[in-house]
Amino acid sequence: KAKNPRENEFHQAVSVVVESLAEFLVKNPRYLQAKILERMVEPERVIMFRVPWSDDLGNIHVNRGYRVEMNSAIGPYKGGLRFHPSVNLSIFKFLAFEQVLKNSLTSLPMGGGKGGSDFDPKGKSDNEVMRFCQSFATELSRHIGPNTDIPAGDIGVGGREVGFMFGQYKRLRNEFTGVFTGKGIEWGGSLIRPEATGYGTVYFAEEMLKMRGDSIKGKTVAISGSGNVAQYAVEKVLDMGGKPVTLSDSNGTIYDPEGIDRKKLEYVKILKNGYRGRIKEYAEEYNVTYFENQRPWSVKCDVALPCATQNEISGEDADTLLGNGCFVVAEGANMPSTYEAKHKFLEAGILYAPGKAANAGGVAVSGLEMTQNSMRINWTREEVDQKLKTIMVNIHNTCVKYGQNPDGSVNYVKGANIAGFVKVANSMIAQGLV
Ligand code: NDP
Repeated sequence: KAKNPRENEFHQAVSVVVESLAEFLVKNPRYLQAKILERMVEPERVIMFRVPWSDDLGNIHVNRGYRVEMNSAIGPYKGGLRFHPSVNLSIFKFLAFEQVLKNSLTSLPMGGGKGGSDFDPKGKSDNEVMRFCQSFATELSRHIGPNTDIPAGDIGVGGREVGFMFGQYKRLRNEFTGVFTGKGIEWGGSLIRPEATGYGTVYFAEEMLKMRGDSIKGKTVAISGSGNVAQYAVEKVLDMGGKPVTLSDSNGTIYDPEGIDRKKLEYVKILKNGYRGRIKEYAEEYNVTYFENQRPWSVKCDVALPCATQNEISGEDADTLLGNGCFVVAEGANMPSTYEAKHKFLEAGILYAPGKAANAGGVAVSGLEMTQNSMRINWTREEVDQKLKTIMVNIHNTCVKYGQNPDGSVNYVKGANIAGFVKVANSMIAQGLV
């Protein structure tokens, strides 16, 4: 902590991993002798840079760009870019650290990284977003490459932003390579990539439920966020016969006890992806309750899928969820549960999947996009979806292998952290002191 002052999110992410690993490390001292943990918490490289751009009126703005290249022991750095005014180095270091373990869990050869900017795309014109992305990609292009570092989307970065950054990279390098994932389907993207994180989270929840002879079918599901991950989580819950009842954004939550059906979901997609409106408009359109400045965790549900952002479930929220009978939490977002909430879920013995396991479907399909780019082929929707499903089932089973308690229950946090760690740690030892 003294070395990285005020990096609260980073400390939180590392603390949880260290707690999970403690017993395992004592039993396997070679990792302690090689100082693997100390090496893993130090990024291989941190890049911070100025991003100047001008708005439609000619006013000049300066934002800060980041790329944390955390670990390349098992493959090139891989991880998304986030554009949100709240970001800082601590947030990118926590995201990059989690990404290393997550990518290892997918079983694909990808190291971990994360980056982005404090730029706020909200309220900006397409041209302003393009100018910002071009400026951002101009500097970033020196540090990335299809065999070095392959960024993707995250909060505030979707197909539009990836397109502008890819275009600028291509123009600077004069080469068409798979240097970004999340590309458009006509120019190197993969089918199912937009759906992958949300679908994968629900596949993972289903696997956990299966362990108890149960399924999503007939379950009431509270979902937060209304962006990429949340939308496709709703879609897959509907496919599996569950009832999604909430969505949110940074201004509030809608609660639709009748259920968000396919027609309403289409409305949300147009609202959020088309004209970038607020979720409040859903409440007006369908005459349902809107909780201003609140998150969805006070409603009665069986399953909670936090799909917005970090630390969106407090200890108090966890108590409310548990009190209302919620017994499955699968994290679509990265670290949405606070340290306190996480411990409450673990103590309650509910089916609780941390983000690095439950939301790994996104980066897994990004890995499949890289494979398709390298082979210069395109797989069908069914092929990619099947591979995604298989990967999620495998991640689930790996978590069970490393996280099963003597009584047969599973600590998925422990399982995910140990399994993710082992592959990276062994590779680091094999590659010497680098
Ligand atoms: P989007 O930008 O598409 O959507 C983000 C959603 O979360 C929006 O509804 C946004 O509301 C809300 N949100 C963002 N920041 C905050 C905040 N500080 N407080 C309250 N609400 C907030 O992002 P994604 O759906 O891609 O990402 C959501 C989460 O999933 C993130 O934690 C991300 O790291 C994680 N994730 C994403 C993956 C992907 O493939 N996209 C892969 C793995 C994890 P508003 O519109 O008001 O900003």
